[in-house]
Amino acid sequence: MYCVQYDPCNRLKSQVAYILPYKEFHNLNKQAYHAQQRNHLEICGILVVGSNRKVTLQFLKNHSRQPYSYKLKLRDIMAVQHYAAFYDQYILGTFHSHPIGKAIPGTGDLKNGFFNNVEMIYDVCANEARLWCVKKRLGRVVTKELPLIISSLPRSS
Ligand SMILES: [Zn+2]
Repeated sequence: MYCVQYDPCNRLKSQVAYILPYKEFHNLNKQAYHAQQRNHLEICGILVVGSNRKVTLQFLKNHSRQPYSYKLKLRDIMAVQHYAAFYDQYILGTFHSHPIGKAIPGTGDLKNGFFNNVEMIYDVCANEARLWCVKKRLGRVVTKELPLIISSLPRSS
């Protein structure tokens, strides 16, 4: 499936940070917290990016009914891709929350997540979001953290 024109794990390109606007981050915190309070559910969706590397979160339905897990449907992802392409944006990867536990990928995430080889994980307890890419090196799966900046709130005048 075609999504990005380059390898996000690429050594040079992966040094430039992606920017998550505070408004998006705050919304992520709110939704992930409410899901956590409802039986430790996870929230999930798609990271949409434009040429300015600014990330927009497209929340999608979690098709898993189990706590501590998430499942995205390909048709939901394709709908976002169609929409993003219209605005000259592309899908960077997927994201989901960890109701408990750190913002680092687990074995299940490596197996079922990382659409387009990129996943952002949000740790609800620590209020921390981290961006990861994955690649295969010598037959082994290697994860690498990508720089992500949460932009601050604009000052009100
Ligand atoms: Zn996870």
